[in-house]
Amino acid sequence: MEHVKTISDLRKIIHESKLRGQKVGLVPTMGALHDGHLALIRAAKSICDLVVVSIFVNPTQFGPGEDLNTYPQPITEDLANCRKEGVNIVFSPEPDEMYPLKHQIQIKIEGLADHLCGASRPGHFNGVLQVVNKLFQIVRPDIAFFGQKDIQQFVIISRMVLEFNIPIEIALVKTIRETDGLAMSSRNRYLSDKDRSLAPELYRSLVNLHQEMTSHFMQDVVSISNIQIKNALSNEYNRLSAKGLKIDYLEVVDYRTLHPISALEAGRKYIIAIAVFVGNTRLIDNIIVEF
Ligand code: AMP
Repeated sequence: MEHVKTISDLRKIIHESKLRGQKVGLVPTMGALHDGHLALIRAAKSICDLVVVSIFVNPTQFGPGEDLNTYPQPITEDLANCRKEGVNIVFSPEPDEMYPLKHQIQIKIEGLADHLCGASRPGHFNGVLQVVNKLFQIVRPDIAFFGQKDIQQFVIISRMVLEFNIPIEIALVKTIRETDGLAMSSRNRYLSDKDRSLAPELYRSLVNLHQEMTSHFMQDVVSISNIQIKNALSNEYNRLSAKGLKIDYLEVVDYRTLHPISALEAGRKYIIAIAVFVGNTRLIDNIIVEF
């Protein structure tokens, strides 16, 4: 495994690999790797010849007061995990390598960032697109792998690729969970024991909502009204609040537009998405549902 820190070193290795006709896969991460990241790496290994994992805590996607300065960076452990998984190249640039210039150009996102994390973290997805776009230009992979846990990120990146005719395939890897349902996240290591015991409630709410909505459809209806959705959401809101959790959002959105829906219709795809502060840690999760 090669560990490179500069764009020019990385490009040299990738260029040689492409000359040999190898298929290149990119797994962008911010490090503190867990089994969720490893699932992305394994998916990449299964269909690519050369797997590049980037580890970069991208400052431009953090807002003021967020955890940029405390974000975990266990690079030695990350490198060992990557080596074990058979990763070919780890690219872990310093911020100056990625951003030598004060940037003046941004990709503007319309409706897709209006809700969910886009609403509670203004500018976050501009930062994500900035760094992902740079990584795409630097690595020029055939396929890039993203996790369902950050579904809004996946939908926005897929849309960027489509709208800008970027010749990269985007693969979605399903969310990897702890045995109690908690979605794996680098931020889970911030949780105190008490917070860790409350954290699986996010997934429980998603499952409860899915069951509630499915039960309506089992009664032979073809749609669920806005009122029924609102009632189901407010039940879960109350259940979580009673446990002392602070809900940032809990929404059912259309899979394509990421906008809240006014009714659920059979045969269409939706996302039930949640973000909650567990102690000081903001956790997110979602499930994709189709009735
Ligand atoms: P991050 O390091 O948090 O920026 O995540 C890097 C990539 O790993 C993103 O595409 C995430 O969606 C994905 N990822 C993070 N957690 C999980 C998980 N529990 N299951 C699957 N993919 C994940």
